[in-house]
Amino acid sequence: MFEMETEFRRLPGVDKILASERLTRLAEVYPHDLLVDLARKQLECERRSVAGGRAASAFDKIVAVIVNRVRALESPGLRPVVNATGVILHTNLGRAPLSGEAVAAMEAVARDYSSLEFDLDSGTRGSRQVHIESLLCQLTGAEAALVVNNNASAVLLGLIALARRKEVIVSRGQAVEIGGGFRIPDVMRQGGVKLVEVGTTNCTYINDFEQAISPRTAALLRVHSSNFRLMGFTNEVSLEDLVALAERSDLLVLDDLGSGCFLDTTQFGLAPEPLVQQSVAYGAGLICFSGDKLVGGPQAGIIVGKKQFIDRLKKHPLARAVRIDKIRLAGLAATLVHYLKDEATTKVPVWRMISAPMEEIARRAEQWALALEGKTKVIEGETMIGGGSLPGGTLPTRLLALGYQRGRHTAQALGRKLRSHEVPLIGRISEDVLLLDPRSVLPEEDEVVIQALRDLAAVVK
Ligand SMILES: *Cc1c(COP(=O)(O)O)cnc(C)c1O
Repeated sequence: MFEMETEFRRLPGVDKILASERLTRLAEVYPHDLLVDLARKQLECERRSVAGGRAASAFDKIVAVIVNRVRALESPGLRPVVNATGVILHTNLGRAPLSGEAVAAMEAVARDYSSLEFDLDSGTRGSRQVHIESLLCQLTGAEAALVVNNNASAVLLGLIALARRKEVIVSRGQAVEIGGGFRIPDVMRQGGVKLVEVGTTNCTYINDFEQAISPRTAALLRVHSSNFRLMGFTNEVSLEDLVALAERSDLLVLDDLGSGCFLDTTQFGLAPEPLVQQSVAYGAGLICFSGDKLVGGPQAGIIVGKKQFIDRLKKHPLARAVRIDKIRLAGLAATLVHYLKDEATTKVPVWRMISAPMEEIARRAEQWALALEGKTKVIEGETMIGGGSLPGGTLPTRLLALGYQRGRHTAQALGRKLRSHEVPLIGRISEDVLLLDPRSVLPEEDEVVIQALRDLAAVVK
């Protein structure tokens, strides 16, 4: 019979737990106080459980739970994975992987002091932006540039610095949610900017903008529809028309490009993605985009445009609150140099993936399949760009299909197995089949993938 008093008495003391073999071994590496604290917390859990009418856990089980707690604290939850989902810019998997040059640049400034805000010529204070500003101006043709924490903060800074307590006009079809709770109307409200929506969901014309201009208007906003596509009977106002209207009325055009792209995507069989250089050439005042979408660098918000506007952003107090750190600044600069040298498709990982020829993808898919010893088939499929760029745009690929034979192993179970690998391998599930896409995996990761698939083949005999 369950006797609560007996169960309480069965619980070990802290000293006995610490004297166990496993904790004695941990005590060689971890301070005594930490282990005492974890032991006390676990005993407290046990007491609550007994008070709730359950039997006390066995001594070994209590020790094992404490050891697991220590292990959980020391192993970082944030760790590398292999992205075989077939979504190249997967926000949940950290968006863009970086080039070797970008990683080396980041490591160097992380390890040592740097000339971050120090002018080596004069020996006096400098600006962290000068390193990157000339690079961005050269690449895009803009007069000035500024890099901040991410694109959401770039848009917010632009609105607050130039349109606070004024009106900003945006097409109703572009007052959208980008994802992750970033909604254009909410950002406006936070920025103390009055949003004036014009047109209808599917059609907006330049006249709609013209008629909405008032003495309180500060800017015309264009937002690239990055995660959805309007189809059928639609009309959008072109950036040229917006700029022409803004010039007549002495207003700012703020262009939120979202992804921000330097390369012509049609050469890879994709839909055209608006180019940063194009927005600059059309004369937009401020152009904002992310560093870690199609640019393929670290997280950053990049702003290029007219000097008169960028200067006001640089001086605004919010600029300090959203400033970028030295490590990502170094990584972004190294990434931009790949475009300067016209080597992005061989160096920047996301462009290597986008430009990978079909024969190479097919060959790698067959290699992966060999590791699974006939427990898979290679099928035709599509890779998504993701990350709020090229909505609906996909690239052809070959996919490994696992778990299509209805049997003991469901796609979910196989997916879990691959996620528990030493380097977790992440696929995507479609119609109860687990799909693995070599296009979103760099060839240098193939060895890890093949090992994971061999291990899987061994257990799904
Ligand atoms: C992705 C995106 C943002 C947000 O960019 P972050 O770099 O994630 O902050 C803003 N606007 C558009 C149109 C986007 O696609």
